[in-house]
Amino acid sequence: MSTLISACLTGVNCKYNGGNNLHPAFAALLKTGIVVPICPEQLGGLSTPRISSEIVGGTGLDVLEGRARVITRDNQDVTEIYIKGAYETLNIARKCLADLVILKNCSPSCGEGKIYDGTFTRRIVPGDGVTAALLKDNGITVISDEDFLEKQKQGGS
Ligand code: SF4
Repeated sequence: MSTLISACLTGVNCKYNGGNNLHPAFAALLKTGIVVPICPEQLGGLSTPRISSEIVGGTGLDVLEGRARVITRDNQDVTEIYIKGAYETLNIARKCLADLVILKNCSPSCGEGKIYDGTFTRRIVPGDGVTAALLKDNGITVISDEDFLEKQKQGGS
């Protein structure tokens, strides 16, 4: 069994702007060797840096079911790339026998429970990103970075 994690949380510079979302707790987790870093947007074929995207018209589940699209800030439709990245991640999760996936909140790929609303105004709405939705739909346990850290804090207090 293993755990997959959004690569940007462990310090990999795979964020749309070429940066990362490093948190010391996740960097420490990476050192244990039990987590496998993945970036669905890179796995889908996007380069880094890249133009940021948001889900327009719904959630990640709506994207998978054809009711919403993933659109870049400059209005390109990148839906198929996001779906490909989600399936590549699912494939890796299955190969690694992952029993947990820790994903970065609010991302149109990785968001778990929270995503941006598609207006590029940083307004947050309830919902999953495309990868989080696909993993959940396939019975894999997904937790956001925030919830994971909160649970760790409660466990340690
Ligand atoms: Fe991080 Fe996920 Fe965005 Fe990649 S797709 S940069 S792993 S939040």
